[in-house]
Amino acid sequence: MHIDLNPKLDFRDVLIRPKRSVLSSRFEANITRSFRFRYASCGWTGFPLIASNMDTIGTLQMAKAFQPFNALVALHKFYQPEALIAALRETPEPNFFITVGTAPGDWERLAAVKKEIAVPMLNIDVANGYTENFVKSVSRLRDDNPDAIIMAGTVVTAEMAEALILAGADIVRVGIGSGSVCTTRDLTGVGYPQLSAVIECADAAHGLKGHVCSDGGCTVPGDLAKAFGGGADFVMLGGMLAGHAECGGEIQYQQQGGERVAKTMLFYGMSSETAMNKYHGGVADYRAAEGKTVEVPYRGEVKRTLDTIAGGLRSAMTYIGAENLKEVPKRTTFILVNAQRNTVFD
Ligand code: 5GP
Repeated sequence: MHIDLNPKLDFRDVLIRPKRSVLSSRFEANITRSFRFRYASCGWTGFPLIASNMDTIGTLQMAKAFQPFNALVALHKFYQPEALIAALRETPEPNFFITVGTAPGDWERLAAVKKEIAVPMLNIDVANGYTENFVKSVSRLRDDNPDAIIMAGTVVTAEMAEALILAGADIVRVGIGSGSVCTTRDLTGVGYPQLSAVIECADAAHGLKGHVCSDGGCTVPGDLAKAFGGGADFVMLGGMLAGHAECGGEIQYQQQGGERVAKTMLFYGMSSETAMNKYHGGVADYRAAEGKTVEVPYRGEVKRTLDTIAGGLRSAMTYIGAENLKEVPKRTTFILVNAQRNTVFD
């Protein structure tokens, strides 16, 4: 047994110290970044925000709404090949990853798409990225798709981020147990504070010309600034994008003054009972659900939320004097705090 006595931090444990800056307005803060990848033959330029491949978040409608922001969506893996082929044909520069797991059905689905059209961005997604089988799957995916941008995860430690990059991942997804509808930590006791996971994995990945995506745990726009400040190249969001018109979930309506008004939407983890009932005919006997189901207020179109997120990030960059996203980690000094904010009106 071993105890790591080094402090491990979450977003809520820190704030970012402001610094003198030459930026006079947040308009000058550029949230677009250009990447070249370790393996993929093409680069990518845009706002490195990725909607999670949860079935109520990673939708084709979300991808459309993200286009004007040059942001990305990891599509959930329940789209049929026909829908994916049509979407790829419709979009000359697709802003979405096609997601696969490690099940044979997922690979057959991908093969069916690839028969018709090239797939430029792939996301290989499992809850636990620590298995030998997963590393082998990443290698196989890279062998089959030498030119694609491949994102793989999730893991939370430097040695496993390295292993996935060496196996063929361009981007490693970092985060276990940090998600808003995740119950892994309660059920298993396993996890890693998200900010430290990002800092440690980014350091390891960057040494190998790999990239990392901080996945899960962002609750407010400031958390994205902290993730980028910790070295994340991309940030993936689930809960912060829930409850919008572009989500796949069912809207619950209420009668209000003779009118039918959209009130709430269901949001649930991909390992929740809700998701397992929907896609796998229930929770298998040998496992327990590792996600929960919540009702979130309906929030209309996602554009406003994206504007707020982008605005928050630009403002953070102005506070620390970072003209572009790449400079953010260099300009970031985290300070340990025991309170994030004034809670008098909560
Ligand atoms: P959020 O942005 O909501 O905090 O986190 C989103 C992330 O939570 C997803 O991208 C995914 O990695 C993770 N996640 C989604 N569903 C589940 C689940 O049912 N169980 C667990 N353990 N994690 C989940």
